Amino acid sequence: MAIVESIAATERSRRKIVVKNPANLELIGEVIVASREEVLAKVARAREAQKTWALVPVKKRAQVLTKAIDVVMARQDELIDIIRRETGRSAVETLMMEILSVCDMLNHYAKTAQQQLEDRTVSIGALYKLKKLQISYRPLGVVAVITPWNGPFVMGMNPTAQAIVAGNAVIVKPSEVTPFAGALVEEVFRAAGAPDGLVQVVSGDGEVGRYLLEARPDKVSFTGSTATGRKVGEFCGRELIPVTLELGGKDPMIVCGDADIERAAGGAVFGAMFNTGQYCSSLERCYVVESVADAFIEHVVREVKTLKLGSEGLYDIAPMIWDKQLEKVDEQVKDAVTRGAKVLAGGKRVGPHFEPTVLVDVTHDMRIMREETFGPVLPIVRVRDEEHALQLANDCEYGLSATVWSKDVPKAVALAKRVEAGNLTVNDSAFSYGIHQAPFGGVKASGVGQVHGENALRRYAYETPIVIDRFGPKREGGWYPYDEKKYKGMKKALQFLFGTPLRRLL
Ligand code: NDP
Repeated sequence: MAIVESIAATERSRRKIVVKNPANLELIGEVIVASREEVLAKVARAREAQKTWALVPVKKRAQVLTKAIDVVMARQDELIDIIRRETGRSAVETLMMEILSVCDMLNHYAKTAQQQLEDRTVSIGALYKLKKLQISYRPLGVVAVITPWNGPFVMGMNPTAQAIVAGNAVIVKPSEVTPFAGALVEEVFRAAGAPDGLVQVVSGDGEVGRYLLEARPDKVSFTGSTATGRKVGEFCGRELIPVTLELGGKDPMIVCGDADIERAAGGAVFGAMFNTGQYCSSLERCYVVESVADAFIEHVVREVKTLKLGSEGLYDIAPMIWDKQLEKVDEQVKDAVTRGAKVLAGGKRVGPHFEPTVLVDVTHDMRIMREETFGPVLPIVRVRDEEHALQLANDCEYGLSATVWSKDVPKAVALAKRVEAGNLTVNDSAFSYGIHQAPFGGVKASGVGQVHGENALRRYAYETPIVIDRFGPKREGGWYPYDEKKYKGMKKALQFLFGTPLRRLL
């Protein structure tokens, strides 16, 4: 039985989505699917709210983020319960992924908003030295935030916090799989003092996502699959709407011959199994140099076999969040096994779970090595050397994150820089999304644009140059008329500024 069911409209009731707990199929609730008119009305309300909000000084806007931390802290157990009901995830993982990281993110942007968004003066080159250049950051307007089901609270909170502190209003469209956890974004910001209409959620499925795009927001922050990302990107390209696409991945790990094998094995297990593998930067392919492969595989298998499946109390591996994804994982593993892969641990469905699985003897033509799996599966490939690992790592349409493991850190960094991925980690599992100072984004089919990093908030603003005349002469050198004297004067200026290497240093 599906955990998400769309119930068609009848004469007496609206179209709705019924959501069940993935762990026990208990009914969580139902949401009415928003109509096109309702989405348009919410966007119109957001436009009104944004006009006033844009005039609020950045410092005051940042206070809403700080208050949001208080709200999350005070209601943490309730939030964890709501998120867990829809994801089946363990309390530890929910706390780590959705609560801790959200508080850290809110705190970071509350503290850095003023510095990132205040007007700044930029020094100008020799030709226009007599002018002043000021850069201002003006809000965009209404931002559409479209989010996936694998991190239903954090994925909504993150772009929303950045967008509102930059002076925008936000409409969030959470996944139909996790509508209640997604709706918490509006609740938290409202409780933190965000004005009416500034942060709103629209519920429903992909159709509602389309209505939201058709309402022509001023920016789209999309996180989800590459297939949907292409559709969203096409729409935004046609309508000339700025868009950030954070998409799927097939992240590789390279274990060099001189790696700390015990640590690398632990990192591999955590990297592949965290959030039951339903994490965009999840480790999905491991390439280990032959000389250390036996030891590495032995450590990995030993640890994987200790992992506890569950959905109540303390456990390591939660059920898969979405039954459709569980089927995909099952199909990919079966395809691999049929084509000769060997299962060293796990390998099958157990109720709503997929066992944490280790595969060897996999080849690059198998689906498990080419398609995003998004489940707790770790395929391991033995390679001749690091160059061989690099070649296989780059033989992939995706390019989200990658990790390299070696005791020789400069060598590992040099190798990592040659991996075609947006986010690189050395000697740790990939978690740069959680480091707000790190610009995070995918290359190839893993996305367009970046989130976080030093300029994060400026991506939610028009970076506007204001050129100011400083001295006010009656006339400028380049103004009319164009006569012989002007021509000669410009030639002299050209010679003065660029005629010698020394002058060009000015
Ligand atoms: P989907 O692409 O299926 O959905 C993402 C969001 O888009 C959902 O809210 C969905 O609604 C909505 N949507 C679907 N169709 C449209 C449309 N035509 N127009 C506008 N919106 C639409 O992704 P999943 O929810 O399955 O999420 C898993 C994917 O997300 C994985 O590929 C994962 O790698 C990726 N991801 C990437 C991250 C990154 O930072 N790079 C981070 C986290 C996840 P609905 O679900 O209701 O149909």
